[in-house]
Amino acid sequence: MKRTLYWLNKDLRINDNAALNLASKSEHLLCVYIVDKQCFEANNFQSKPLGDIRWQFLQGCLDDFNESLSKLGQELYIVYGDTLSTLTRLCENYQITDVITTKFPGTYENRLITQLNERLPELNINQVDQFTLFTKNALPFELEQLPVSYSKFRKKMAEVSISKPVPSVQSLPSMFDTLPAPTRFKPEWLPSVSAVKAKQGFEFEGGEQQGLTHLRQYFSSNSPAEYQQVRNNLDGWKNSSKLSPWLNSGCISVRQVMNYLTDFEQQQGKNSSTECLYLELLWREYYQWVHGKVGVKTYQFKGLAKHKPLTTFYPERFNKWCLGNTPYPLVNAFMHELRQTGYLSNRGRQIVASCLVNELSVDWRYGAAWFEEQLIDYDAAVNWGNWQYIAGVGVDPRGGRHFNIEKQTTLYDPNGDYQAKWSDQSQQSIQANQALDSVDASDWPVLE
Ligand SMILES: Cc1cc2nc3c(=O)[nH]c(=O)nc-3n(C[C@H](O)[C@H](O)[C@H](O)COP(=O)(O)OP(=O)(O)OC[C@H]3O[C@@H](n4cnc5c(N)ncnc54)[C@H](O)[C@@H]3O)c2cc1C
Repeated sequence: MKRTLYWLNKDLRINDNAALNLASKSEHLLCVYIVDKQCFEANNFQSKPLGDIRWQFLQGCLDDFNESLSKLGQELYIVYGDTLSTLTRLCENYQITDVITTKFPGTYENRLITQLNERLPELNINQVDQFTLFTKNALPFELEQLPVSYSKFRKKMAEVSISKPVPSVQSLPSMFDTLPAPTRFKPEWLPSVSAVKAKQGFEFEGGEQQGLTHLRQYFSSNSPAEYQQVRNNLDGWKNSSKLSPWLNSGCISVRQVMNYLTDFEQQQGKNSSTECLYLELLWREYYQWVHGKVGVKTYQFKGLAKHKPLTTFYPERFNKWCLGNTPYPLVNAFMHELRQTGYLSNRGRQIVASCLVNELSVDWRYGAAWFEEQLIDYDAAVNWGNWQYIAGVGVDPRGGRHFNIEKQTTLYDPNGDYQAKWSDQSQQSIQANQALDSVDASDWPVLE
């Protein structure tokens, strides 16, 4: 008898989910989502892999997915603990014959699958390639031959067709008779969700239904046709698609987004804005495959470069940057928005990353890890890839990006509206003419 465990991760949706379709063919099915304790513990870069805001969003995704499953006669079994030992224990206890999961290019997920396979060699593990726009088999080159620049990648992918979303399941097999009711027990190390509520900023609500509603609304407006002109603006719901939180939790798939975009182009006409939106989705795609190719180099100081950057770790500067208390008012406003809402425009992300690396000379990995904790739309490949790009150790052959903060302020916040909105009145911000450091490199107080 086929007893299948579907291990859900960043694929919390019913629609366009080939892994769920495959799971629907088994005789007995257990749908599992694991909340790993490690996500809430500080890593080597002083940040946690999962901060309160994304955790709150994720809970919405889990609730919504569970509700959809219940309409198909199934339930989501949420388990708290170490991922590998939980998977092993469940497979052993419930005599699982098959594990189904979505395949991610990331090193962490792939290592887990390898380890599970080593522990339980009899287990049949099926990884469904559906996180990206193109499957690995559809790439017109071996992953090792992935072009070293985005523009070359874009040219190569121009001829490859994009698959349509797959049909949705209509029914699912039952759980095992012997299984105890799904756990509602929550360990004490979980942060309390009700404590998190942004005072202002965008309202992102986790869940497939919420993601699909937003997807429909965005593409039934004229915004995609104007995307290119407004995408770099600092504030405003319609300046960009705001699809990233749902995309990265898997509430919607990138193929669904492309499908909407293609329909929009057929009905309203293709223009430079719709093309630009496609090219951004392709950046996401490129970073996934770069991550798949370079593996752990994604997280290393030297990244893909030959030499290490000339930055280091200054705890005081890093803390001031995190708290939005640097000598740069625009950067401070960005950091306040990020910390309060979990979201930041692309231009905002570029400017604060450039500031940390170039103005504050701090090791870029601390910034990437802070983003990992704070962002509601965190994605490993895209986040660390973009940070590498700015720090000059990534895929960019031109080597690094240095944004002139004064010029960016004049361009994007000439009247200071954005800075006023996100200024922190309770904080005594340091002025541009004040010293950034109160201690020197050997921790001695800096004298006036
Ligand atoms: C330092 C830094 C860190 C970042 N970290 C993340 C992250 O963890 N997760 C994340 O999704 N994006 C990240 N981005 C990329 C980008 O800022 C966000 O994708 C975008 O702001 C999300 O808003 P949106 O959905 O409205 O984007 P839109 O402008 O509407 O773009 C549509 C989609 O295209 C993709 N996209 C857009 N810009 C980029 C980009 N620069 N690189 C790769 N894909 C892109 C995203 O999937 C996005 O949802 C980062 C950028 C920088 C500079």
